Amino acid sequence: MEENKLAPHVQEIARALGDKLSEEEIEAELRSYIEKYKLSIPVAKKTIVKKHGGDTSGFSAGFQRKLGELRPNEPNVDFVARVLTANDKIIDARGEKKKIVYGLFGDESATLPYTVWEPEGLELDKGDVISVKGAYTKEYKGRVEVHLGNRVTVRKEDPATIEASDVAQGPPKIVTIGQIRDSMGFVEVKARILSVETRDVTVQGESKTIYSGTLADESGKIQYTAWTDFKLKEGELLKISRGTVKSWRGIPQLNFDERADVQRVKEKFPTVEELSKTSVTPLSDVAGRGGAAGVSVRGTVIEVRDGSGLIMRCPECKRALQKGTCKIHGQVEGYPDLRIKAVIDDGTGSVSAIFGRELTEKLMGFSLEECMERARQAMNSEGIKDSMDDALLFRTIDASGNVTADTYGLSMITKEAELKTPKTKQDIEKLLVELEESR
Ligand SMILES: [Zn+2]
Repeated sequence: MEENKLAPHVQEIARALGDKLSEEEIEAELRSYIEKYKLSIPVAKKTIVKKHGGDTSGFSAGFQRKLGELRPNEPNVDFVARVLTANDKIIDARGEKKKIVYGLFGDESATLPYTVWEPEGLELDKGDVISVKGAYTKEYKGRVEVHLGNRVTVRKEDPATIEASDVAQGPPKIVTIGQIRDSMGFVEVKARILSVETRDVTVQGESKTIYSGTLADESGKIQYTAWTDFKLKEGELLKISRGTVKSWRGIPQLNFDERADVQRVKEKFPTVEELSKTSVTPLSDVAGRGGAAGVSVRGTVIEVRDGSGLIMRCPECKRALQKGTCKIHGQVEGYPDLRIKAVIDDGTGSVSAIFGRELTEKLMGFSLEECMERARQAMNSEGIKDSMDDALLFRTIDASGNVTADTYGLSMITKEAELKTPKTKQDIEKLLVELEESR
């Protein structure tokens, strides 16, 4: 505790005690109560004044404490807090069913769990700011708990007294990009900016410029959105503290706004070029992360799925047509397209990868027009899927793109792909044996 923080309290105690103790003595005693006995400042002050026979009346009432100052087992505490959560629970109290309310209170200094034991006539809603008099504290698993018993009085205050954004959060978790998961709370990450784009969006009726792109470290890449202008520049190495994680379309993304602390860091770190070179990520890691952006996979094509080949798409919504029918727009005049849906297995897991027309043409070595010509001659387009089986099955492939995770597993919208090894009969037999063994 810094001296200048204690000085006003020392003077207050000195006034209550007259000249019974010197300021030095008061300060030493106050410090010992706070540091050694872990008393809160108000309780320590009151204790000193009482002990030396001073007038404690000025110390007993009207103390409004910060939640962060509360200590376990205080019999009488007053504070103002924001209701972060409020839940009902029915408990068994001496054989009788009884309703209690529990949740979290927060202010600028801390968030603490609370329990209301007599909730009749006391409506607590999330977002309320309340002043509480006469609560008490306990300790549970090393954390202070606030209890509102039958002596408590609660008054609702203007919710602007404590804004939600001012409520203290725990310290951010220090993570690498590869460790980032959805809903992990505040994180701190060190990463280099690979790209920055600006976009104008409308937030609650107001136009706002946001900054987004890709961040990378050695463990992976992540899309980010900055809701404040941090003057981000490509290539900068940043330490972003108090960012938050949210999944968007099945991929965790990093968000940071004015609550975050963004610092430029100067230290040895892989360059943009090194980080841009995609390094191969095991699919088990990608699954563990709940999807990831800019993933590179090296694996074997173990299945070319139905729906691969020459398809017709709805001109309105681009959905693939089933027998000339779009499930939204009905019977339409479709346009042709080429795609591959393939399952790639890298030994740690598998991903269903979708290749669009351009990549399909590159991998197959024939164009959409050639496909259509072949389909016309053969009077059907079945043959295209067969050629895809021939060309791709059991080949090693490098594929990269964004991988999403859902209950069906991993899917990749493939951005780049390259077939590696030429396929030989021995390769196939070896792979078949391996696949059998791994099942
Ligand atoms: Zn359609």
